[in-house]
This record gives sequence, C-alpha cells and structure tokens, in this order.
Amino acid sequence: MLAKMDQLQLETRALKVRELNFSRKLFITALVLCIIIESLAFQLLPPLDRLKPLYYSFIFEFIGLLSLLFIFLIVQFAPLLNFRAHALLSVGLFLWILASVVDVGDEFFYQPLWLSLWGEDVLRTIGMVVYTMGIMIAIKTVSVSYNQIKKLSMIDELTQLPNRRYFKQMLSNHENQSFLILLIDVDHFKKINDLFGHDEGDLILQSLGNSLSGIMTNNVTASRIGGEEFAIFIDSSDRQNAIDVANIIMREADNISSEHKKTFTVSIGITVKSPNEPSREAIKRADSALYNAKAKGRNRFEWSS
Ligand code: GH3
Ligand code: MG
Ligand code: MG
Repeated sequence: MLAKMDQLQLETRALKVRELNFSRKLFITALVLCIIIESLAFQLLPPLDRLKPLYYSFIFEFIGLLSLLFIFLIVQFAPLLNFRAHALLSVGLFLWILASVVDVGDEFFYQPLWLSLWGEDVLRTIGMVVYTMGIMIAIKTVSVSYNQIKKLSMIDELTQLPNRRYFKQMLSNHENQSFLILLIDVDHFKKINDLFGHDEGDLILQSLGNSLSGIMTNNVTASRIGGEEFAIFIDSSDRQNAIDVANIIMREADNISSEHKKTFTVSIGITVKSPNEPSREAIKRADSALYNAKAKGRNRFEWSS
C-alpha cells in the first residue's frame, strides 16, 4: 500500500513547455528574438569610434552594479535557502559584482588588457555560472519546501488521512461532474471516550483511518473531515460502487471492534451529486441521509432521498 501522503498527488515539478502560460512563452520568445536581432545589428552597423570617457555608459553600468548589490542583499536576508544555494548565490554574485566594479572603473581609469580580460570577463562569466547553479538549487529547495508545507496543510495529524481542506478542494475540482459522497459518523463515540478514555478513543480513530486508507484507489478518496466524522469521495455515479464501499467500511468497523475488544459501529449517509448541482447541496443531502441512518438505529447506511 502506498504511504497515505503519497496518495495525495501534490507533487510540484518543473513545468513542461506545453504547460507554460502565455506570459512565460511571450518572455522566452521575446528574449530569443531580441538576441537574434541584436546579433544581426552588431554585424550590420558600422563600428563606432570609441570615445573616452563614455559618461552615459557609466550611468548604465553603475545601475547594473547597484542592481547586483541589491540582489546580493536580498540573498543575504532570504529565508528558505539551504546552505548550498546560499553559498553558490553569494559567491556567484560576489564575483559578478567584482567584475561589474572593474566595468564601471574603466570609464575613469586606463584599463590594461589583463584587467579587462581576467578582471572583468572571466570574473563575470564564472560569477554568472555559479549564480545560475545557485538559482537552480534555490528554486528546487523552495519547490520541495512548498510541496511539504502543502502536504502538511492537507493531512490530518491523528489518522494521516487527507483532511477537511483536501476534501473541500477535491469537491471543488470536480464541481461540474457527477460523483458519490459517503459521510461516515462513529456511533456513540462519546460513550467510548467516557468508558475507555480519550487515548483509547484516539487509537480507535487511527484504526479506522488505517482501514479507510486501505480502500483508497485512484477513484476513491477518504478524508477525516471532523472529530469522529469521515467522508469518502468516489469519482463515479454508479450507486453500486457506493454500496460496495459502505459495506466494506461497516465490515472494517466490525474488525476494529474485535481488535480493540469494544463495540464499535459507524453510520453512513450516501448521496450522488448531479453534474450541475453545487457540491454543498449534495453534502447537505448526504448529511440528512446520515441523520436518517442514526434515527433508524445506527450501524447502517442510508441513501439521501
Ligand atoms: P452519535 O452516535 O449520535 O454520533 O453519538 P456520538 O457520541 O458519536 O455523538 P457526538 O458527535 O455528539 O460526539 C462525538 C464525540 O467525538 C465527541 C468528542 O469528544 C469525540 N471526539 C471528537 N474528536 C475526537 C478525537 O480526536 N479523539 C477522541 N478520542 N474523541 C474525539
Ligand atoms: Mg459526530
Ligand atoms: Mg458520532
């Protein structure tokens, strides 16, 4: 059986080209076009006489230097960066900034060839390569952290099942479709807590969580949506699927009874949502079906009318 967290398909991964949205595609296309036009322009234009000092170019180079310094500061204060990403970004920017200083300086001072080559071009190139490696690791680190946080926010701590937030998100992802909902409520759970203690109550809920996780498939998702309340989403409108799942759950409750040597039953309300009905209406119907199951003596499932 897959680990429950892995059953939630929340992986963040690099986007494929066809998944890029319009603005990202526009940026990439514009950059490629500009590079091509610039390369052609260099070859077509006659060479300019180099005038010294070029004050206007100093202004742009100085703004470039300030931008690098600003990014360097951002990196120093950035949260969520692991050591490797932080070190690579800092070293890369450090070298790039040194090159940029030489670049600004040559507008004022005579620059020998070794300085313009080794002091500027080589330093800048190494700096940019190291910085790029740092950016790649930083993006990966942030993606992994985001993924972990997102999973944690969707998992119930006690049972390790998906929680209410995940269940609601799942419903809204399927809002225009037909599907089955089962609402499950443990019978007389207050009594179990009163008789055997809250800790034993927790263990029973965990056992139920394990059983529900065992019935999860690509089409069946179980969540803990409240204290001793669970919900099953079935991506199908075939009523027989819901009946099969309800029977399995009641049998599992029976097994938990003998495992913990305590009488333990559940009541279940079932409904089928139609495609153009809001899912909150379907939930209300499943809830009243659950109420009927309780009223008719518990340890049973009922369909909504
Ligand atoms: P009914 O058959 O009508 O559902 O009876 P019930 O006793 O289950 O009814 P109710 O919903 O009023 O009580 C639910 C109880 O579940 C109350 C609360 O103490 C207990 N409970 C809720 N969350 C937890 C939990 O995380 N652990 C434990 N041990 N008990 C919990
Ligand atoms: Mg309840
Ligand atoms: Mg109950």
